[in-house]
Amino acid sequence: TESVTRAADAFELRRTDAPAPDAERAAALAHPRFGTVFTDHMARVRWTSTDGWHDRRVEKYGPLLLDPATAVLHYGQEIFEGLKAYRHPDGSVWTFRPEANAARFAASARRLALPELPQEDFLGAIAALVRTDAAWIPTGEETSLYLRPFMYASEKFLGVRPTLEAEFLVIASPVGPYFAGGVAPVSIWVAEDYHRAGPGGTGNAKCGGNYAASLLPQQEAYAKGCDQVCFLDAATSTTLEELGGMNVFVVHADGRVSTPALTGSILEGVTRSSIIRLLTDAGHEVAERRILLSELTTGLRDGSIVEVFACGTAAVVTPIGRLAGEGFDLTVGDGGPGAVTTRVRAELTDIQYGRAVDRHGWLQRL
Ligand code: PMP
Repeated sequence: TESVTRAADAFELRRTDAPAPDAERAAALAHPRFGTVFTDHMARVRWTSTDGWHDRRVEKYGPLLLDPATAVLHYGQEIFEGLKAYRHPDGSVWTFRPEANAARFAASARRLALPELPQEDFLGAIAALVRTDAAWIPTGEETSLYLRPFMYASEKFLGVRPTLEAEFLVIASPVGPYFAGGVAPVSIWVAEDYHRAGPGGTGNAKCGGNYAASLLPQQEAYAKGCDQVCFLDAATSTTLEELGGMNVFVVHADGRVSTPALTGSILEGVTRSSIIRLLTDAGHEVAERRILLSELTTGLRDGSIVEVFACGTAAVVTPIGRLAGEGFDLTVGDGGPGAVTTRVRAELTDIQYGRAVDRHGWLQRL
């Protein structure tokens, strides 16, 4: 906490003179809808190739003024992160493994030829913003303050080369459950014609372009009556990768659990690695390996695969009740949330919300 405070103190606070009225904030906090309302302030740090990182600030949340020739608008040199601040029953505020997000942000920066932000600035910006806007952290069940750190190429230049100027910002949004249906199982469409990432591409970086590439397949999944898309590997179209914004797990009837290995084309989720730990602690054998789509469909048909779930910061753990694709439409288990899915979700959220002992030291107090 001391080092976080030191890092946060490097940010100059320029408080807004027009914060949202109490009634407006209270209304937003009472019914938080994912990513629609933002707090009074944002944190920002500037980077130039000549001066490095400077101008650490927390200032009024508001529009950015961009020159039409700003590099990010043309070549998509941009990365982001997503994590949450949780209010515990005693009123204290915590984040979950933020140094993992800082490390992934630095790795994404390397892949996108953006400057690496030091971990202390990543953590300091979050702490400075959350402390300033603490009144925006909702208290209801399954609610939190979603934090969105991001960085973009801010240089005014149309040449195709890495930017010489960048902006890092953190914005914050009070949120409730990600899916309108709460923890109800979702249906998945397995895309065989579209891929989100290929070998040597940017699949393991958290850059905007990956999400842009996932939108059309997502739209087609909706049209097929499914909630989300599951992508297969680009090289062979046979192997499970992940959803557009979540990792995926398969639970076998004998208690073993499998999840796609980190091949370079999927994002290494913080939730994914936490769940591997929790399941291992609970005595499950967890394999990070190649999972063929044919193994999954066969297993669902013969009952040797009993649960499938997706996981990520926004939706935590989401049961998958139905898996469909070209030529198959299968119910997972009885279509309802399975026992392992339900238990690991409760274990994880109990730690995040301060209802269980944080035995792995995953929480950081702000
Ligand atoms: N895969 C993708 C493509 C994602 O966007 C996310 C969300 N960051 C995840 C997996 C899950 O990652 P995490 O558990 O760190 O939120």
